[in-house]
Amino acid sequence: MAEEKPVIWKGEADCPLCQTKFNVENVWLNRVKFQEVYTDLAKKYESVNPMVYEIWVCPNCFYAAYKKEIFKDISDLNMSTFKQLEPVRKKLGSIYPKNNERTLDVGVLSFKLALVTLQSRKDVSAAKFASFFYRIAWVYRQQGDKDLEVKYMKLALQRYENAYEKEMEPQIGKMGETGLVYTMGELSRRTGDDKKAQEYFMKVITNKEMTGDPKYLKYCRDMLSGIKEGSAPNFWK
Ligand SMILES: [Zn+2]
Repeated sequence: MAEEKPVIWKGEADCPLCQTKFNVENVWLNRVKFQEVYTDLAKKYESVNPMVYEIWVCPNCFYAAYKKEIFKDISDLNMSTFKQLEPVRKKLGSIYPKNNERTLDVGVLSFKLALVTLQSRKDVSAAKFASFFYRIAWVYRQQGDKDLEVKYMKLALQRYENAYEKEMEPQIGKMGETGLVYTMGELSRRTGDDKKAQEYFMKVITNKEMTGDPKYLKYCRDMLSGIKEGSAPNFWK
């Protein structure tokens, strides 16, 4: 049998704020294996979860952001807000490992630090915050911590609902409106509110004007019949 190729590769980055050089771990995405896809589209990984490596954290000032382009870009950073949040960063940073090595715990911590940076950026959509809370929930799911998973899914749901109600163009990436409403349905269902979930799923099915990937229509139909029969699926086959 051929030897398995390494999944992680190490590199170096430098902080655009304090110029500290530090080591980073990156993932060869094409070498990552996942077992199944949850109905909220999180993947169940065999071992390495690439999400845990998505955020770079400066080990000196604890500025944290998505790697590469976004990490380098501090043009939209409100420096006075960033400074005000220093105690929060330091508190989280005090438990951050010096060697930057990623475990699931460190992955969660990196997202929490990235949320602190996000609070200092200008004009960030509520949907953007939601996507960070959602990622934290997914890592807690992999850890088997149900309470924290639910707590962060609720935070994500709140922000997605804010985005959907108040923002002209919520930053929802590729998922489109059908994906956003389906996601709010899944978050409601997974946090114990089947009634609200059904309303969201129904909304995607009945609203013909809604744009986005049509696959969500099928997901909504399957979810509605699953809830009705008392056996909503946890994974998509
Ligand atoms: Zn720094």
